[in-house]
Amino acid sequence: MNRLHNFSAGPAALPLDVLKKVEKELVDYQNKGASLIEMSHRGPEYTAINTEAAERLKRITGAGNDWIVQFLQGGASSQFMMVPQNFLGSDQTADYIDTGSWSSKAIREARLFGNVHIPFSGKENNYSAIPDNSELNASDNAVYTHFTSNNTIFGSQFRKEPETGGSLLVCDASSDFLSRPIDIDKYGLIYAGAQKNLGPAGVTVVMIRKSFLETQVSRTMPTMLNYKTHVDTLFNTPPVFAVYFLNYVLEWIEDKGGLSWFETYNADKAALLYDEIDRDEFYRGTVEKGSRSHMNVTFRLGSEELEKKFLAEASQHRLSALKGHRSVGGVRASIYNACEVDSVKALVDFMKQFRSDNG
Ligand SMILES: *Cc1c(COP(=O)(O)O)cnc(C)c1O
Repeated sequence: MNRLHNFSAGPAALPLDVLKKVEKELVDYQNKGASLIEMSHRGPEYTAINTEAAERLKRITGAGNDWIVQFLQGGASSQFMMVPQNFLGSDQTADYIDTGSWSSKAIREARLFGNVHIPFSGKENNYSAIPDNSELNASDNAVYTHFTSNNTIFGSQFRKEPETGGSLLVCDASSDFLSRPIDIDKYGLIYAGAQKNLGPAGVTVVMIRKSFLETQVSRTMPTMLNYKTHVDTLFNTPPVFAVYFLNYVLEWIEDKGGLSWFETYNADKAALLYDEIDRDEFYRGTVEKGSRSHMNVTFRLGSEELEKKFLAEASQHRLSALKGHRSVGGVRASIYNACEVDSVKALVDFMKQFRSDNG
């Protein structure tokens, strides 16, 4: 077996232990004579997995019994629409902090349903920084405040939850959920597409505080898009493979030591890369130091020509998927929970060599 050093932004590297475990039991799940993904989603096997995954998510994040966990489809992109449809009345206002492309997409959808106030936008500075609380111009009547905890494309990340004008937070945590502890009491709803840091594509984890769900607006909406449809019941077939896999990733997170363990592990990995970037002018970080992401490390080289050469030579060293997002260019190393420190060290070694060959 010769696995790549995989820096893909998503679908991204998954824990090898979990891949092997699923491989081992994929054809015959627990001697039942069939794969888990060939069984009814209402049977005892899948029901146990669904329940266990939801319980693990609550335990890992510190969410109490006032929280509901849902495993939905349609990606984080569908949550851009479902959140305002359920929680933003046409005469109400929600605050949306604009820190990158995903935030902007969420804003576009929210405007279909009600008023959007933007307490901060990083757009004019090419999304190179996360706002301090003092830069946030919150409205005092927002029904919720939406933010993107980690900006996958630009490589910036909130160090801690932003202050609001009193409303609960709604968070698109797609690219850093379960990478570090969160202050759960500040949130009303958290959503994350699984394919960055949680598991395979196909499931979107949605955690909703019950009291927040009670603030749902009265509006006619399609059954599938109403969060209440999915409370305490499987309304339709969930993405069973993705939830099954996710459940093992959650087990792996707990076995490693939970979110504080990953916070340190991820910060250490990120520091290895940022130290190398900051060594001199050869590599240039694209984000202000205090706003740098511990998940997506973005940087540029002296010219696009040199960047091309960097990427081509990196792939010869089995360092894969380092190309920056097509909208911004440059280099991006995505180092989610499952990206091993040895992969990061291999990348740093390559960066040193490339500098001395081309500097
Ligand atoms: C990838 C990503 C999305 C989009 O997720 P889909 O599951 O493809 O809809 C949204 N927000 C963030 C922060 C992301 O990283």
